[in-house]
Amino acid sequence: MGTNRQHRGRGNDPAFPRLLGGRLCLDYVNTIESPRDRPQDFLRGYPDVVRWGRHAGVLADAETAALMQAGERRPQDATAVFARAIVLRGALTRIFRSVAGGGAPDPGDLDAARAEYLIALDRARLAPGGDGFAWTWDAPSARPALDLGLDLDIPLWPVARSAVDVLTGDDLSRVKECPGADDCGWLFYDTSKNASRRWCSMEGCGSRVKMRHHYARTRAGAT
Ligand SMILES: [Zn+2]
Repeated sequence: MGTNRQHRGRGNDPAFPRLLGGRLCLDYVNTIESPRDRPQDFLRGYPDVVRWGRHAGVLADAETAALMQAGERRPQDATAVFARAIVLRGALTRIFRSVAGGGAPDPGDLDAARAEYLIALDRARLAPGGDGFAWTWDAPSARPALDLGLDLDIPLWPVARSAVDVLTGDDLSRVKECPGADDCGWLFYDTSKNASRRWCSMEGCGSRVKMRHHYARTRAGAT
């Protein structure tokens, strides 16, 4: 599994929310839709974490299949990894909401992200990549003893790494929370030239808010 395989696009599985976060860790946080209002959780078990990994482009098809199989054969391990996945998502959600709001994240949440990052780094190796070297992870299919030795937490590694990369290397003033029509709450990294992006998506929240404003204006004009 290379580290540069993330899709910049919208994800390849229509059963999951589109990838609008601009950073892998924020797309991971956005696996709950309407988190503030009417939360709909797209991660309901270990298989969802694996499928989302494929959706987000961090797992190839063969890797996805290997992890699904291994998860079925080792349900207790899969449940434990799922619990970690949800703890990580909660910590990242609170961390990046704080960052977006200009506040200071909770040290306990930073510790939780750090713990997952250290696990990920422990499994990574340095390999030539780009102009220099990069952290990379071997594809599960390249590993011996596929089933017994397979780390079920593979999908979490690039997420933890992405979170630390954003926190340590990105412009944090570009981490934003979509206001939607008072209800969205999705997080994204604003890569627009003037840092002027307001919505998770222009077609979604952007147009919804415009429509509300238009409706309010026409109603005000009528009275
Ligand atoms: Zn939104």
